[in-house]
Amino acid sequence: MTLGFDKSQHPTVQVAAALGEVSRRHVELNERYGTHNYKPLPVVIAEGRGCWVTDVEGRRYLDMLSAYSALNFGHNHPAIVDAVRTQLDRVTVTSRAFFNDQLGPFFKELAELTGMDRVLPMNTGAEAVETAIKTARKWAYQVKGVAPDRARIIAFAGNFHGRTTTIVSFSTDPLATTNFGPLTPGFDVVPYGDLAAVEKAVTGDTAAVLVEPIQGEAGVVLPPPGFLTGLRKLCTDRNVLLICDEIQTGLGRTGRTFAFEHEGVRPDVVTLGKALGGGLIPVSAVVGIDAAMGVFKPGEHGSTFGGNPLAAAVGRKAIELLRTTDLVERARSLGDYFRGQLEALRSPIVQQVRGRGLLIGVQIKPEAGPARPMCETLLHDGLLCKDTQKQVIRFAPPLIIERAEIDWAMERIAVVLSGR
Ligand SMILES: *Cc1c(COP(=O)(O)O)cnc(C)c1O
Repeated sequence: MTLGFDKSQHPTVQVAAALGEVSRRHVELNERYGTHNYKPLPVVIAEGRGCWVTDVEGRRYLDMLSAYSALNFGHNHPAIVDAVRTQLDRVTVTSRAFFNDQLGPFFKELAELTGMDRVLPMNTGAEAVETAIKTARKWAYQVKGVAPDRARIIAFAGNFHGRTTTIVSFSTDPLATTNFGPLTPGFDVVPYGDLAAVEKAVTGDTAAVLVEPIQGEAGVVLPPPGFLTGLRKLCTDRNVLLICDEIQTGLGRTGRTFAFEHEGVRPDVVTLGKALGGGLIPVSAVVGIDAAMGVFKPGEHGSTFGGNPLAAAVGRKAIELLRTTDLVERARSLGDYFRGQLEALRSPIVQQVRGRGLLIGVQIKPEAGPARPMCETLLHDGLLCKDTQKQVIRFAPPLIIERAEIDWAMERIAVVLSGR
């Protein structure tokens, strides 16, 4: 039997050859038995605490990816671990066939945090986005009066909202769509940040505009100032729901609790995930105004694990930490500091440093080559970060990071970005 690909051509295998013995064994298990839908950097993590992880050979690394913002509170935050332990001793899964004593308080606390009316709990981010799409469609038929099966949703070029068949259907990344058709119809894609294009795309059948306040996976792309405000006004004028996907940008990451606050807008529907699980378990949710979330009737949507008491207890603790600590303010001030330090390098190979709070993208000039080898060098220097979109290094450390740790990272980053 052949493996169907030339192993010597697989870059991870080559890098793995330079690894320690234990790490190499783990990489090989992944290569041999795992499906190759990821291309991880060659580090095998065994433990994590706060901003730091330790690999199977005992080397320590500063984590500046934070599992794409799932780790806003760092690895194994003691308060969240405590909340899990306490809940483990009580009850963990009930299904929604019954009430549980964590979910009601979670609903209330999340509604208050977001300023929204109602919450629908799911598990992964993609499920939250799917739920938002279903919400918008049903709202279009039942509230707006769109003819059956005619509802459309406007999304943006460069979007990332997850990996389900419907969500990839409006991705503009060929890797996400090629060979996965037939794709789900009902989406219109326009350039990100282009308000005039949205205005042109809106018709009487438009149910919603689905937008990332900052496009994370696209390479930390910020819309032009006023874009969200303009979208809000357009959606209100044309009776269209504004859905903000805050799965990556929400819960403090950008220096506000939610990124839409930077322009003072109030969306109709918000998707949350990643950090809502406190860095421990998958917890996601859709929160929205009554008119939108109110369309669901019993039996029309749900999830076996969605809203389970363990998830709700974790979500409650994550919300409590955001409300009672200075994490959001830290993201703002340390983000400004970190970006300032990166800009002060005046690196000859950097085209642009951009971001908000602790969501930072460093765009590498094409002539300096791709970002991936730079991330590999940083990995060897004890710093975990990840390239996105070939030319961008994303830095998104846990919000608990200290200024001294940013300085520690900067010493290493300065060498890599020196262009030598
Ligand atoms: C990560 C992400 C998702 C998908 O979340 P999963 O938990 O991986 O399904 C959706 N939207 C945005 C903006 C994301 O960053």
